[in-house]
Amino acid sequence: MDSQAPYPKIELHVHLEGTIRPECLLEIGRRNDYPLPADTVEGLGALYEFRDFDHFIEVWILVTNALRRADDFRQVVLDYAAEARGHGAVYLEGIFSPIERTWRGVDWDEIFGGYCDGAEEARELYGVEVRLTPDITRSAPIEDALKMVQYAVKYRDRGIVGVGLGGEEALFPPEPFEPAFREARDGGLGSVPHAGEVVGPESVWGALRALGPVRIRHGIRAVEDPALMRELRARGIVLDVCPISNLRTRAVLSPDRHPLPRLIENGIPCSISTDNPAMFDTDLTRDHELATSFGSSPRSLYESALAGVLCDAETKTRLEAIGDSYGWPGRS
Ligand SMILES: [Zn+2]
Repeated sequence: MDSQAPYPKIELHVHLEGTIRPECLLEIGRRNDYPLPADTVEGLGALYEFRDFDHFIEVWILVTNALRRADDFRQVVLDYAAEARGHGAVYLEGIFSPIERTWRGVDWDEIFGGYCDGAEEARELYGVEVRLTPDITRSAPIEDALKMVQYAVKYRDRGIVGVGLGGEEALFPPEPFEPAFREARDGGLGSVPHAGEVVGPESVWGALRALGPVRIRHGIRAVEDPALMRELRARGIVLDVCPISNLRTRAVLSPDRHPLPRLIENGIPCSISTDNPAMFDTDLTRDHELATSFGSSPRSLYESALAGVLCDAETKTRLEAIGDSYGWPGRS
């Protein structure tokens, strides 16, 4: 076996809008006649350089407003599937935030149809299984959240497997979204909200009580509350941890303070993801390098992620077989 080949990875926390590299943005901008502040890959690359969270939000708005048509959403999935495959990805659950796009006049079916087309083609073209988990935007009214869930259920047989909650955690707690997550669960979708990234344990408790999650995106601040860690362990909830994102946003101030090792020591399964790789200057290999530098084995990270996937049983069995047959480095 080629020792340089990346080991297999499962990524469960990646915002597709945050994967758009400058080359892809230029192409979409030209196609849609959307004015960009630079017209070269180098120029856009400089703009992408991560400075602070406010600048990240500016870049996020600039990039996401370029997305207008089904073909744009489709391309975003395909480009990221190709990138992630280069880092060993065999399965991804991609997040997208449709509510903000509909506020800009883009049609729901254009968004869902485009992303689902991309997911199907990613399997055919690159052999990467892609499933989708649209995020409810926390600042949105409940009517928009319920509408999004309707579309998520409508597209369930085209690759939508869950519904998340994202955006400004400090300003918008999870509880008001309880009805939307109930609808999603009744419609056969998993609940995969963000919580415990910038807000402490109360945000994770709120998500546990109100949203019935099967996984939590981030969830790292659970480390501050032993009772919460016991609860997560008892429920078998997987945390989708993004170590480099946490450093970029300063949710964690330095690598040696990252809570990942303590969460794992406390028996909580943690998967590893990039969050917004293009905008946070990371990729799946670098996030795994940081995670394994804390002492986790690649195989244990794969198994933890596998415990949280929302795909059908047949696909999950195939992913298990990939993990079982791979010649993992080290003794695990
Ligand atoms: Zn996220």
